[in-house]
Amino acid sequence: MPVTANTPKYTGPPPKSQTSEEQIAALRAKVPDDPIKLPPGHLACEACGIAVDDRRVSSTVAQPSSGHLPPRSAEFTRCSSCEAVRTSAAAYVTAHPAYAARIGPDIAVERVEAVLFGLEIIGQTTSTDLGLLLPRLHPAAHSVRFSNPLTLTIGLCSPRPWAHVTLTQRDELRRAYAAGLRDRLAQSEPPVAIRCPTGGCVFCGLASVNRAAIEVARRGGVEAVSRAVWREVNTNPKALGSRGPERIWGHACPACALAIEDAGAIGWPARAQAVVTYLSHKSPSRAQRLRAEVEGDFPPVLPAWRVIPSPKPSREPWAHLHKVIDRL
Ligand SMILES: [Zn+2]
Ligand SMILES: [Zn+2]
Ligand SMILES: [Zn+2]
Repeated sequence: MPVTANTPKYTGPPPKSQTSEEQIAALRAKVPDDPIKLPPGHLACEACGIAVDDRRVSSTVAQPSSGHLPPRSAEFTRCSSCEAVRTSAAAYVTAHPAYAARIGPDIAVERVEAVLFGLEIIGQTTSTDLGLLLPRLHPAAHSVRFSNPLTLTIGLCSPRPWAHVTLTQRDELRRAYAAGLRDRLAQSEPPVAIRCPTGGCVFCGLASVNRAAIEVARRGGVEAVSRAVWREVNTNPKALGSRGPERIWGHACPACALAIEDAGAIGWPARAQAVVTYLSHKSPSRAQRLRAEVEGDFPPVLPAWRVIPSPKPSREPWAHLHKVIDRL
């Protein structure tokens, strides 16, 4: 229905006649609210922003001087509830030493804590597999603290816990949480075949590469992963072990792309390296014999898959060279 001047504006469902205190509280917890003056003798909680009757300073945040105003700083404390979150974050990091080893214990606690705050803000209970939520939720959660220097307010506090968190921030948290839930589903899914956009790897003829479903979900879907997995190649028949003036455009699988990178160019050395590497996983003795031939006086041509007559994509790399490989 087109919107005209006569179309009555939709104003939401009719108000319920009797809204309980509890319902009001639940509704208010979902929307931001303006800060209020900090009562005398109180400090704001550095995380949720409420006034705390406690002068123990847990952090001091400086506000850079702007224009003619001198630099100022604000002191914050922690309410008991946010202090408990810090304790659980530290416990999680202790229980997951690999995470702290990767990014350092302080950053690890900061991130886990931010994620726990984020969950609290959107009214979700702590999930058991926090590990899956961390990469999704941390970017959305890490600026929610009241003491965030970018949104620093001096002498004010939040009327309710997290009232300072904007609707946009809440939206981002909810979206990140949903993405984390999708990751959890993807974890139990079978791997996804990422097909070569041009049929098969120009070098080895591999038709597709498997990637974990969770990786595909995290990187934004099959197309995005395909762009990362299959390296675009623009070359000529000579570099692939054949002849001809035309250009050849295609894609290289990750293993062949690595060999090309190592060799510094598309050509026989890269092909030889790629076949030897492939064989070293399948049959080390054959790999050794091929290496000897490659370094010998009559090295094999090892033509790329793309230049053989009527190439068909294969599930196994270098299947078109099976005759050469079998006699090794
Ligand atoms: Zn707090
Ligand atoms: Zn952070
Ligand atoms: Zn390949």
